[in-house]
Amino acid sequence: MQSVALKIIKVKSPSEKAKILAEFNPGTSTWVVSDLVSRSAIQKNILDKFGFVEASACMRVSDLWQHLLFSVRPDIRVVSPALAKALIRNWLTESEYDFAKTPGASETIIHYLTELVPLLSHPESQNVMLPWFEENQGAFVRWGLWFREATRLWKRFSQEKLIARNWICGFLVNEPGFEKNFSRALIFDLGVDVLAPELELMNGLSRFQEVVRLVPDPDWGPELAQTQNWKGERIEYRRFSSPLGEIKDAVNCIRGWIDDGVPFEKIAVLAPNRKRIWSTFAEFLKHEGIPVREVEPDPMSAHGHVAQLMSRLELKNGKVTTDKLELDLFHAEEAKKIFTNYNEFSRIFSFLYESKDLYRHSEVAHAYEARVSETALSAKDFLKQISNLWEDEWPSELIERLFSEILKDVPTDLILDKQNWISYLGELTRSIDLPEQAKSQEGIYLENYFSAEHLSVSHVYFLNVTDSQFRKARRTSILDEDLKSLSRTLGFSLVVNDPNIPEYTAKWILSKDFSRNILSYADSDFSGQPEAPSFFWLQGAIANNFDPKKITEPGKTVWDSLQESMTLTNGLDIEKNFDGAIHLSATALSNYNRCPFIFYAENLLRLEVPEGVDFDLGYRDLGQLLHFIMEKIILDKKGLAASKEEISCLVDEWAKENRFPIPDENLWREQKRKFFPYVQKFLETERYWRQRFPLTKTVGVELKISAEIPSSIGPIKLSGKIDRVDTDGNGNFAVIDYKRSGASISTLDSWSQDKVYQPLFYTLALESGWTALGKKHVSTGQFYFLKDGDRSRAYYVVEDAGTLYDVEDSKKNKISLEEKKNLVNEMLSVINTTAEGIRKGKFLPQPSDEKTCEKCTWRYSCRAKHLM
Ligand code: SF4
Repeated sequence: MQSVALKIIKVKSPSEKAKILAEFNPGTSTWVVSDLVSRSAIQKNILDKFGFVEASACMRVSDLWQHLLFSVRPDIRVVSPALAKALIRNWLTESEYDFAKTPGASETIIHYLTELVPLLSHPESQNVMLPWFEENQGAFVRWGLWFREATRLWKRFSQEKLIARNWICGFLVNEPGFEKNFSRALIFDLGVDVLAPELELMNGLSRFQEVVRLVPDPDWGPELAQTQNWKGERIEYRRFSSPLGEIKDAVNCIRGWIDDGVPFEKIAVLAPNRKRIWSTFAEFLKHEGIPVREVEPDPMSAHGHVAQLMSRLELKNGKVTTDKLELDLFHAEEAKKIFTNYNEFSRIFSFLYESKDLYRHSEVAHAYEARVSETALSAKDFLKQISNLWEDEWPSELIERLFSEILKDVPTDLILDKQNWISYLGELTRSIDLPEQAKSQEGIYLENYFSAEHLSVSHVYFLNVTDSQFRKARRTSILDEDLKSLSRTLGFSLVVNDPNIPEYTAKWILSKDFSRNILSYADSDFSGQPEAPSFFWLQGAIANNFDPKKITEPGKTVWDSLQESMTLTNGLDIEKNFDGAIHLSATALSNYNRCPFIFYAENLLRLEVPEGVDFDLGYRDLGQLLHFIMEKIILDKKGLAASKEEISCLVDEWAKENRFPIPDENLWREQKRKFFPYVQKFLETERYWRQRFPLTKTVGVELKISAEIPSSIGPIKLSGKIDRVDTDGNGNFAVIDYKRSGASISTLDSWSQDKVYQPLFYTLALESGWTALGKKHVSTGQFYFLKDGDRSRAYYVVEDAGTLYDVEDSKKNKISLEEKKNLVNEMLSVINTTAEGIRKGKFLPQPSDEKTCEKCTWRYSCRAKHLM
């Protein structure tokens, strides 16, 4: 025995710690840090100074505890948190308590186990806790039963000689002898993030070798909960309305610093969780041409084949969801694809409730038939199942890595419930990072903030400083007063993280002497959930007279410029997409004039808006079906009074002719029942209308429009289909556009403002002779709502009334011939100005009415300024 006690060195600031590091002798001592990034930074420091670095010169604290565990208990196997959780789920099924079998109990109990390990692993734990709970009845009510359950589970882990990695330090405090198994001097550089059992371990080690603990002791608050003197000076505070704005501003700042000559390696972007921002940030940086020094997080679960494997496993074991089915079916090799048409798939499987639903399609049902009937499987059988599902063409290195991780982690004789194996595999693949990609030696840092202390950088942008990221709620019901009592009366220190640690660490890092230091947060996260600033952002902002309500306008990035350049008349894409002419239809005109970006996404990039139809009819299907029925019943002179049976046969005939997917007879019968109200309403409306206006004749169904008109910016090609054209046989025509219902269609007086063009576009087409009917005089242009037979959202020319319609009601849809002429001329000028905008490449997300954005499919991709 040499040393006497743990030596505490108080450090006022990160720069003071740097001086201690400069004196560090890696030949005889080990510098202990909490994370991998700090370890790399210290190792680099040693390498730069001495030209080489031994593995024992710098260690992660968790590796040190694991090393000490192996030295005293080589019989214990360390397992991943994923396997610990799987075992807990398995063993909880044997619990005598109902609460332990509820969903989420395994998540809670794992927190109890982690916190209570120093107590549970002590041989006297039961004997001392019984009287303690008697003394502390309140504590027993809150967590007494959780303790009993945790004790039972701990015994199972002990019998199996298994331990989770994060339980080791709590376990070691009760293992005599560990302290003699490390011969080098130790310097613990863990900041304030030190658990009570870790302090015990440091004390134990200090009896046999020199042990130093570096303790932060800044002027602004030596205690975790007492940092009110922190002023947050020399920091710029920023607030944004969206996380995208925040990222753009950070990218803009970095670009500015680089342009000012700041080297890449002196710039760091810090965040509470870099994985959350990585993909978006990296994409922006790529466009700027700015390299990142860190390795991109690459969890195994994100690889397509692993995700496909997980989907298959779930589907074959009765957990059916549309996204899993879609993932597996549409990632299949071309030759093995069951569906080639997404709409067909979507119609059948948009909604899935149970595995029986797979029988809507016989091939799908066959593909996912459960081949393994047992509910419990050994590790060997589970590996066999994975191997059977893994296709020969899929990358073998992925499955090899997966098998090697499982075999390292799982005892071969382990038997688990099938679903538990799948959950385990899901968690394991999420925790495995594939580090094969080489870390770039040049570039800026993009790091978790707590890893940043040892980075030698001068310019820092610290983002996502929100309350939710810095305040973690306690996951157990063990209160501070319980902890104090356990420590005072029984001498047990539990593994409990102080909730103040994240903020304290952030303040400590921010007290480094950076040249530029920006602290920001956004009012919402990427999913649109509202966010509040963390307490230390507010504390610093107020102390430095920054108005916390002020929203910062994000700086511009190269991406913004690229987007803006789309307004230039380079015309390349447009020429390519439009084959020399601008193509327009009524929908394209509406899209462009509602917002040019919608047109860009749907008409130029041809991105599709899924209809989400299930077996339900889209309105186009419905329109087609009604045309079909009309042809059969009206045009074939069968009269308008068809029986239910006749209609049913006609629907079958239509479905067959149009290859409408018929999943299963029962479902189809059910589905047909939904069509009847539409068919009946349609026939009723037609009966009524044709009785009143017996001259009405339908002369066009899905009438094609095709025209090319000259303009100052080149030819404009016009196309489309008019749902229906009627005539009275006396030279008056009606153009009709079917809609399922009228919820989103405005009345005539608002058409121009709401960019509703169909009736007038079709009128122009028919009057200009752009259809097979030749030039015709149009007296009315209407929307026909199939749900209720309403035809009032229309224009009716007063002078032409009498044979196709009358104008007796008080609705404001009557116009004179002269007014109709003006409206049709306006339509022509909309066509010309739209074509001009397109030709000039104007596609910015600028809606004519911001209300359009509320329901717009592209709101998460258009990056409109007013949405950030
Ligand atoms: S969300 Fe608004 S700005 Fe963006 S594309 Fe849609 S309409 Fe245009």
